[in-house]
This record gives sequence, structure tokens and C-alpha cells, in this order.
Amino acid sequence: MHARKLDDSVYMIDLMPQGVKNFISVYIVKGEKTVIIESGPACSVENLLSGLQMLNISREEVDYVLVSHIHLDHGGGSGTLLHFLPNAHLVVHQRGAKHMVHPEKLWLMARKVLGKVAEMYGAPESIPKERIIEGYDGMILDLGNNVRIEILETVGHASHHLSFHEHSSNKMFSGDAAGIYLNTLDVIVPTTPEPLYLDVALAAIEKMIRAKPEMLCYTHFGCAGNAVEKLEAYASQLKLWERIVRECLINGESLEVIRERIVEEDVYVNKAASFIESHPIMGQRMLLQNIQGFVSYVKRKMG
Ligand SMILES: [Zn+2]
Repeated sequence: MHARKLDDSVYMIDLMPQGVKNFISVYIVKGEKTVIIESGPACSVENLLSGLQMLNISREEVDYVLVSHIHLDHGGGSGTLLHFLPNAHLVVHQRGAKHMVHPEKLWLMARKVLGKVAEMYGAPESIPKERIIEGYDGMILDLGNNVRIEILETVGHASHHLSFHEHSSNKMFSGDAAGIYLNTLDVIVPTTPEPLYLDVALAAIEKMIRAKPEMLCYTHFGCAGNAVEKLEAYASQLKLWERIVRECLINGESLEVIRERIVEEDVYVNKAASFIESHPIMGQRMLLQNIQGFVSYVKRKMG
């Protein structure tokens, strides 16, 4: 387990779900009030709590847990986590809130889509309605000491996605809206499962670019500089995937052929494909699932 201070107000914990390093990071932002960004999955809540302890942050002082969206790896552990944080409220997109109160459907869907990985992450626990705050675009959380978080609605990866911009350190906590950053390879990879809304996903990237962040703090994984450049690169990558998928569908190609062409033409994926496909969590399914998001999107568009 690995927890450290990034700057005067921001800390990071590597959650290491089932011992897998460099895959899920959560962030703590501290002014006079304290916020945790992302809960991670249920299976790594214990690691999160020991990370807090290592950073000398008490459970009582946490005021809010902000989740980018309710997928298991981001918000799935929030119900479990809130048991240990007596004063904290959960902030989640309004379309995700009801699934946090009644997580049964979320758990069912997650098992369908993720299979064994969902079992590994663990089942989400219900959160009492009165501990949930619905986050919305433009909402400001003033943490005191000049630390302010602005919420941006950044739907596309999911219909219930938020990103968080901390103004004084100029960090953008992007959830899954800016893709996955494989920090050890310095590579960005799309995270675009079904149902993908590409046009709104691109608009969300534009919105983050307009905020001119200095650093992007990904959930997968870690903070990186040149934020605007990375966001622009991600938008181009999504457009490249769309073009390849469209061409392949017109020619009646299979998912496997589309995968091969993407590996060939996308310099990032080319560099990262074998790493991704042998990764204990991302594995063989991830690229194909993300391509499938594009396939359904392009088919919808073609009518
Ligand atoms: Zn994710």
C-alpha cells in the first residue's frame, strides 16, 4: 500500500485492489474540510482506510466522498466506506444516486458485464438517502483555506459521470472521462464500454480543456502534467477509433479485425496492447469491450 502527499492540499493512495498496483488511485483534497475523490471498489476499502492512517487523516475529519460515477471500480465501495466515516456525505451524479441507495441492479449489471472482475471488486452496499448529495455541473465545494472544487458534468463514458476541478492546485480529477492513463508506459487508452455516447464524451473533453487544468489526475492511474495536451490527444484517439470502426463496419469486418487495425494504427494502443491483455484486471476483455462501445455507437449513427 502506498500513500503520499502530492502538494499542499492533495494526497494520493494507490488502492491496490487484490494486490494490483498502479491501477486505481483515490485522492484526498484538504482545506479546512476534507474530501476523498473516488471510493474505489468494496474490496479495497480496508486499504483506503490504512492509507488515511498513514497520511494522518482521521476518519472523523472526512466531510465528503466524491465519486466520478457509480461503476464498481470508482463508486462501488462507497457504501462500505461510509460505515467508517461517521461525518461524511457521498456526492454523486443525480442519475447515479438512486443506485447507491438500492445497489441491487448495479451489482447485477456489473456481474453481467465484468464477470469475475465484478466478484473480485465486491458487491456495493446500500447508502441511506440522507447521506447522499446530488452533484451537478457548476456546483462548488468550498473546502476553506482557498481550496475549492468545482464539479463538471462530464457524461459520455457513463450517463452519470462527474469530474472535479480543484482551482488552487489546478488539478482536474477526471474519473474515466479522459480515458485510462497507463503511467508506466505514458500511454492513454480509451475506456468506452457500451453504452457509449461519443458526441457527448467529446463535448465533456472540450469542457475540461476549457477549464485549462495544469494536471490531470486519473483514477486509472495517477496525476500527469500537460493536461490540456493529454485531453486533446484523447479526443483525437477517440476520433481515430470511430473512423476505424466505421470503415470496418462498412466492409463487414469482425470485432477481431477491428481490434487488429486499432492495434496497428493507434500508436498508444500499439505500445500497450500486450501489457493490457496480460494485465490481471484489464485483461483480454478490456480492449474488445471498449471497441464494442464504438461498434454500437457507430451502428446507431448509421441507422
Ligand atoms: Zn474505471
